[in-house]
Amino acid sequence: MRTSRKISEIRLLNGSTGDPGLYIDHPGRDDAILFDAGENATLGMERLADLEAVFITHHHVDHFIGFDRIVRANLDRDKTLQVYGPEGTIAKVYGKIKSYEYPFFPFQKIVIDVHEVHATQLRTARLECTRRFPRPKVQEVDWNPPVIYETDDLKVEAAHVDHTVPCLAFAWVEKPGIAPDPSRLKGRSPSRSPWINEALGRLRAGAPLETPVVVDGQARLLGELRDQYFMETEGSRIAYVTDTAWSESVRPALLRLAGGANRLYCDSFYAQEQIQQADKHHHMTATQAAEFALAANVEELILIHFSTRYAGRFDALVDEARARFPRVSAEIPPAPQKKSTRTANPS
Ligand SMILES: [Zn+2]
Ligand SMILES: [Zn+2]
Repeated sequence: MRTSRKISEIRLLNGSTGDPGLYIDHPGRDDAILFDAGENATLGMERLADLEAVFITHHHVDHFIGFDRIVRANLDRDKTLQVYGPEGTIAKVYGKIKSYEYPFFPFQKIVIDVHEVHATQLRTARLECTRRFPRPKVQEVDWNPPVIYETDDLKVEAAHVDHTVPCLAFAWVEKPGIAPDPSRLKGRSPSRSPWINEALGRLRAGAPLETPVVVDGQARLLGELRDQYFMETEGSRIAYVTDTAWSESVRPALLRLAGGANRLYCDSFYAQEQIQQADKHHHMTATQAAEFALAANVEELILIHFSTRYAGRFDALVDEARARFPRVSAEIPPAPQKKSTRTANPS
């Protein structure tokens, strides 16, 4: 057993210049999650089919166009996919589902639980393939911010932000404690190797280390498995904030969400020079992202959602942020041969 804090696979799907999307997985566990459902072809159908939960910030096309691929990848799975989003998500997800015809084969068993995050309420509806997706009944429960999703290993927190439409920001929060060590499990997952969860459950319950656990038909000692495949983790926090103004009204919630985070992925659609457009379209500038990172005392800031107007000079956005906050980076693809003269509308 060893100690670690960075044990997850974290992937920014389209770098800092494409549709925002963040995939987080523990290779040794069945708990992959995805922030935002924009373009997600880089993830591949297999990884999309492994998702346990999808968290949609809002319904602008660059954050929602990939939802169809998520449905397609999971249609044949006998599982319940959790989907979270702001007000309107139930109707929008249902609308997408109903826009297709299905053969309704008996093996198509997907259940989608859609949760809308309101100010003090969660509204939930269940969409069931085996029932041929009838109009869902919506249930309401009181909600005490910020946690919207929780498993044995992690929590996801949400905050309402200030965009042109209802929009959320999220934080992925890993709980401290004992966890499988993906580098030693070498591709084994709990679904294929059930002993992983059995051993984990026993270790967390404080079972004697001499307890036998059957691994691939052989009895092994719990203590042996602990030393070979598990580790202590301090827990980490990753905040994902996009499509919001850096306005007074949202700062307290955003600072709570990202406070002390190991990583903050943050909207920097504009340079500070375009602050008026940023205010008008409710996006942040690179300088504001840096101010946010500084105030939240994060370890690392990663800028995302650059406007295509800066194509060929994206580095200037990173430099602008670095003037305020040193530990900043971005994933910028190599410049294309021919520059496009068109600029995308903010969304
Ligand atoms: Zn956007
Ligand atoms: Zn937007």
